[in-house]
Amino acid sequence: MEAWEGRRLQLDGQEFLRFRGLWSREDVPALVEEWGCLGIDRAAARSEARGKHGWTELLVDHPGPPGAMYSELFADWIRLSGLMDYAVGLFGLQHDHAAIGALVEVLRAPAGGPRDPEQIRAGYRDEGWLRGILGGAARMNMSCEFDADTNSMTLVSRDPSKRGGQPGFSAMMDLRLTPDGIAETLAGLVNDWLPPLHPYLASEGGAFHLAYRPPPDLLSTLWMQFANVLTAERALKVCSFDACPGPPARPHLFLWRYGSGATSAKNSTSRYCHPRCASAASADRRREGDRMDLEARDRTPDVSIELPGAPAPERDEERPAEGRTA
Ligand SMILES: [Zn+2]
Repeated sequence: MEAWEGRRLQLDGQEFLRFRGLWSREDVPALVEEWGCLGIDRAAARSEARGKHGWTELLVDHPGPPGAMYSELFADWIRLSGLMDYAVGLFGLQHDHAAIGALVEVLRAPAGGPRDPEQIRAGYRDEGWLRGILGGAARMNMSCEFDADTNSMTLVSRDPSKRGGQPGFSAMMDLRLTPDGIAETLAGLVNDWLPPLHPYLASEGGAFHLAYRPPPDLLSTLWMQFANVLTAERALKVCSFDACPGPPARPHLFLWRYGSGATSAKNSTSRYCHPRCASAASADRRREGDRMDLEARDRTPDVSIELPGAPAPERDEERPAEGRTA
């Protein structure tokens, strides 16, 4: 990525998954520090696409005048993060058909599904698809409702004053609860965020070829990353480190080894979402090994027993993220 507000960003391809993790105001400053301003309303202004205006209205409380910097509120980031979680949840649902049934069951409950973000966060401890969908909608200040007649889910604003606002727009997040229906909604949602790509002619050793410049802004790049996840035709993996802090610190759900970039997605065998998860997990294993070592010595003081050593650190995974210029 070229430069964003004067800084050069190193991306590793998993930032989209980390941005899912903003639930409360405390989650935001670290990412602001790392990434600067997201430019939600500027992204909207760049394109006259129908959706962009709707998105701004949905995600941004006080859009600044065109060209204004730093108009974003933490709440805007949290709403955007909710949308990203919603999108990842839909992706999960599309592959995990049992989860579609589980979602319908929650929506059908007499009291309706849980509505409050913190309630959902507490109620769904695991990084599951339902948590992403219900919690993502809740952070956009919407609740998910089930429509039995059409076997679909609709998103309804929890803010009564917004209910009459843009019915046509929020309806684009509604979905038929079938794998096809979910994929359709997901494609429409992602398309709204993908930047226009401009081709240019490059010459190399006298030969011409067409190339595309990557999008110059972070927000478009994040959605490009997610589009890559969707087209990779691979299921997202869950980090094997029990104490993985998850997003926004680390992706937790991941496609390939952090830092190795998209090219090695096919041969990535990592079980950990981040080099720090890999090294913490191997340190845990070492500690466990030492403990067993000591216990064994206590039991048999006179006999020296050769215990198998602690598992060697997985060197391949311990390499620090190399960072990658997207
Ligand atoms: Zn992890």
